[in-house]
Amino acid sequence: MDKKSKLQAPSGMHDILPEDEQFYQKIYDTASKMADFYGFQKIDTPIVEDAELFSRGVGLTTDLIEKQMYTFKTRGGDYLALRPEFTAAVSRAYIEHGMFNMPQPVKLFTYGPLFRYERPQLGRFRQFHQIDFEAFGEGSSVIDAQIIQIFYNILKELKFKNIVIEINSIGDNQCRPYYKKLLTNYLKARENSLCSDCRRRIRENPLRVLDCKEEKCQPVKAQAPQLIDHLCEGCKTHFKQVLEFLDEIELPYRLNPYLVRGLDYYTKTVFEFFEDTDAGKNLGALVGGGRFDALIKILSGKDTPAAGGAAGVERLVQILKERSKDINPAQKNIFLAQLGELAKRKSLKLSEDFRKANIPIAESLGKDSLKTQLRAADKVGAIYALILGQKEALEESVIVRDMRTGRQDTIKMDKVVSEIKKRLGK
Ligand code: AMP
Repeated sequence: MDKKSKLQAPSGMHDILPEDEQFYQKIYDTASKMADFYGFQKIDTPIVEDAELFSRGVGLTTDLIEKQMYTFKTRGGDYLALRPEFTAAVSRAYIEHGMFNMPQPVKLFTYGPLFRYERPQLGRFRQFHQIDFEAFGEGSSVIDAQIIQIFYNILKELKFKNIVIEINSIGDNQCRPYYKKLLTNYLKARENSLCSDCRRRIRENPLRVLDCKEEKCQPVKAQAPQLIDHLCEGCKTHFKQVLEFLDEIELPYRLNPYLVRGLDYYTKTVFEFFEDTDAGKNLGALVGGGRFDALIKILSGKDTPAAGGAAGVERLVQILKERSKDINPAQKNIFLAQLGELAKRKSLKLSEDFRKANIPIAESLGKDSLKTQLRAADKVGAIYALILGQKEALEESVIVRDMRTGRQDTIKMDKVVSEIKKRLGK
């Protein structure tokens, strides 16, 4: 096939195939249940927004805005962006719909696709999905802890193991400017020992140097002044309280003074979740978030404290999939096999009886050979095969074959659902 006619999904974007949909659904269901319990209401925002929303909200000198936004001009001349993140979009909706007039905090929850022009690699896509929780109008540290608790509970519910929560405080506009100056002076004096990206960052966004993974920058990072030592009283107390809440609910966190996160709008608490297992090791952060007390004002809303976080669905799916490798995703306890025209017709009716009784069954009604059908029953890991031949169809009965022992019993057709229920202990 010549190269031109070979159409594929765009680089870094992927189809979610039927066999993977169950993992996505499970994550969305678990998150929705958690949102319900903690009083976060579902909201959906458009996939495109005014590009300015992100450049203003997230910050012009962040990688996200500088390098990763998908932007385009519409026929009408509007300059729009495919949303690269949720926080600015949900904040825009909070302001636009006057939600500051509602009883605070306003707690919102959403999930869906995001777009970032990144270099595709393991766990890093150009279209990916997040589940996102945001709480507006609450400055108390208890909300920071609750957001962390929600993501912890979601991962626990999804049976993630060895979850590590890294946490830091990056101060606010009281203490951060002074620290930034201190850090900039320190970095300038060591500029030659930094990678080229970090040399640029000294001027544009010095905090990001602390985040750099380049080998070359590590010794400079290790000796750098730490923000945690320069927090103002307000930020210090806030951070202490968050940690006390986490202690109270016994969540396993680790202080990471180098955690600064990529986006400008964060204030005070920032956090990330990792899974310390073979499957999780190379995936990077599963969840990220923090407090963003300055964002609503930057977006021309009233001064409103806020906190939130987001989990990367593809990364969660990757781990869930890895773990379920040995589980047959198509597993069904019951397989309905038939032989002959009359049996086929009766099978249709019988399969309806099982659906009404809420017992999933597998079948291959299009197949005629019993051998092929029993092989299919094996494949889905069926415990019982129900066999409807010509004779059974005429006698209104069904053969129930125990696939483990080969034992067969003939049961009256109108009793078969209750018999199966009994055998499956339902
Ligand atoms: P962020 O919005 O950058 O704070 O990211 C929150 C979470 O989304 C991260 O912890 C990742 O799990 C996930 N994530 C971020 N960027 C990507 C990407 N390009 N591909 C897949 N997942 C991502």
